[in-house]
Parts: sequence; C-alpha cells; structure tokens
Amino acid sequence: MQTLTNRAQQVDRRPMTFWEKLYLPAIAKGMGITLSHIFSKKATVNYPEETRPFSPVFRGLHVLNRDEEGRERCTACGLCAVACPAEAITMEAAERKEGEEHLYREEKYAARYEINMLRCIFCGFCEEACPKQAIYMTETFAPANYQRKGFIYGKDDLLIPDPKHPVTVNKKEQ
Ligand code: SF4
Ligand code: SF4
Repeated sequence: MQTLTNRAQQVDRRPMTFWEKLYLPAIAKGMGITLSHIFSKKATVNYPEETRPFSPVFRGLHVLNRDEEGRERCTACGLCAVACPAEAITMEAAERKEGEEHLYREEKYAARYEINMLRCIFCGFCEEACPKQAIYMTETFAPANYQRKGFIYGKDDLLIPDPKHPVTVNKKEQ
C-alpha cells in the first residue's frame, strides 16, 4: 500500500534473541537516556513560582480604563461588542446624571459591561475598535475557576481601581 508520508516504519516481527528476552540491555539503554537528560538544560519552568517572559504581542485579561481624573472612559458606544468576532461582550448604556461628572467622562456610560471569557479568543479587536481608549488587554491571565459563571467578567472585575475615589458610587449600586 502506498503511504501518504515517508514517516511510516515497518514493524520488526522477528523472534526475540536471548539478550532481548533478558530486557536488561534495553533497561540500561533507557536509564542512559534518562541520566543524560538530568544534566541537560530543563525545558520546563517551576510555574507559578517561575514564569516565562511574555511575548511583546501577548494579549491577556482585559481592563476598563479611567482617565487622568479617575473617571470611567467607556461611553457604552458598543463598538467593541460589534468588533468582537466571538460575541463575548455585552453592555447596557445609561445616561450620566447631574453631579456624576466626576464618575463618568461622557454623558453616556456603561451601567453594565460584561465579557464572557469562555468565548473570548483574545484577538484584541475590542481594544483596537475602542475610540475612547477605554478597554485594554493586560499581561495577566484569566484565573482558573470551577464555575462557568466565574468566567463572566463584569464591570467590578474589569474596571481599574479609582485612585481618587477608592469606593465609587456606581460600584456600590451594582
Ligand atoms: S479579545 Fe477579541 S474575542 Fe475577546 S472580547 Fe475582545 S474582541 Fe472579543
Ligand atoms: S469599551 Fe470603548 S468601544 Fe467598548 S463600549 Fe466602551 S467606549 Fe465603546
């Protein structure tokens, strides 16, 4: 039969010799290979104590950014959700009320903003689509979780802490 690749090997079906039946040479050969690897450079790292350097183009967990005055940058325009090929982003917009100018930069803000990390393919399109530099991808992994709902990241998980107002009004309401 014609093979698709040249990697096929014929199986040796000859009866075993006396030395082969002893298995000792094969065991010694295997031990030799193991010993040779003890002194060679390890291919693995002791994660999580030790980590490999990230690639310059690594895209990790998302964050929702604030402006220099600590106000939320996101205006709930929905462009990130439209650009997302995995349909992982959902949001609800709300109107900024009087007196909330210190919380939200624009008249409209995202009252609810969610990313389903089980859908996300970390393509970075949301980051590129955002006209307000509100969403960024960091060098952090999404932590493991036993529950599917633990991978639905809400605004509380995504919004970076406000240095000027450590506990903001909108967070209390959520
Ligand atoms: S990184 Fe890609 S898949 Fe993930 S939320 Fe952004 S646009 Fe969607
Ligand atoms: S993160 Fe950016 S693109 Fe997405 S809704 Fe907010 S402002 Fe619009």
